[in-house]
Amino acid sequence: MKIAIASGKGGAGKTSVAAALLQVWDRKKLAVDADVEAPNLHLFLKPENLHEEKVYLPVPVLDPTNCTACGDCRNICQYKAIIKMGQQILIYPEMCHACGACFLICKENCLREGERELGSLLYQTNPIPYLMGRTRIGEAMTPPLLKKMQAKTEEILSALTNDTELNKTDKPNELSSIDKPHGSDTPHTFDDFDTIIDSPPGVSCPAMTVVRESDVLLLVAEPTPFGFYDFKLAHAAFKQLNIPTAVIINKINMQGNEEGDALMHAYCHDSNLRIVGEIPFSEEVARFYAKGMILSELSQEWEDRFKTIALNIQVFIKEEGKLP
Ligand code: SF4
Ligand code: SF4
Repeated sequence: MKIAIASGKGGAGKTSVAAALLQVWDRKKLAVDADVEAPNLHLFLKPENLHEEKVYLPVPVLDPTNCTACGDCRNICQYKAIIKMGQQILIYPEMCHACGACFLICKENCLREGERELGSLLYQTNPIPYLMGRTRIGEAMTPPLLKKMQAKTEEILSALTNDTELNKTDKPNELSSIDKPHGSDTPHTFDDFDTIIDSPPGVSCPAMTVVRESDVLLLVAEPTPFGFYDFKLAHAAFKQLNIPTAVIINKINMQGNEEGDALMHAYCHDSNLRIVGEIPFSEEVARFYAKGMILSELSQEWEDRFKTIALNIQVFIKEEGKLP
């Protein structure tokens, strides 16, 4: 089960919600920070033993020895990564999308495979199963890194599924009535692990790349005028993907914003979007968040609040037929 937590705009509270949900989520889980341009889930969850793996994109490098400057490679490149100046061929690896067409079309075999660093994947399976991606500074293209991250997610889930010791370590809590047995010797299967993904913000390529591969989408929405506008855009974009979608309204009950709250409720009602949680606005929360603390650890009341949201999400997922 892959659960993407997304939002129409940055600052809606997506990461703080993801961190708190991961903290109270009582099923087997893998935390994924896919906000690769500005990952910060690790600041809350504090994974300490991350392995780093660099990710590269194969790009062409020209060996000019036999190049006839025919220009075929330039003509076939849809991304303007190859140009011809007089009789000289120039390659701009930063523009390359690694489609491979230029390699295929060059009759003189003048192009060999080089690489461009996209960024890194950082991960661990113990004690907190965790995966994050981070783009190289200056790298503009994130979907190839996200695709590698999706492959790594499957690899980690497979390792977790086969880790018999890990399968015995979780403790049950009050949400477990809806779950598979915890802390037992019952072997877990691949499907028992929930991947909770802090998605890139907005609705551009990175966010779409992540949400498209998810089973369930949680949209974190802020009932301010800008937040509501971006939330509607996000909903309009993501609903094309036909993924079960629920909403968590963050910063509700802001003084003087009763109309914003009402508009958000009305939109969700009219759009048949289930609201699985409402998080009240509080300056204390903002201060807590700024210190890198997890909201469910603020007090018993906040822990219970997120446990209820987690339960609502699990009920929603079950009703959508995504949980056994
Ligand atoms: S297709 Fe090959 S031979 Fe032609 S310009 Fe490109 S590199 Fe040179
Ligand atoms: S691999 Fe594709 S995108 Fe990259 S330079 Fe060659 S044709 Fe252009």
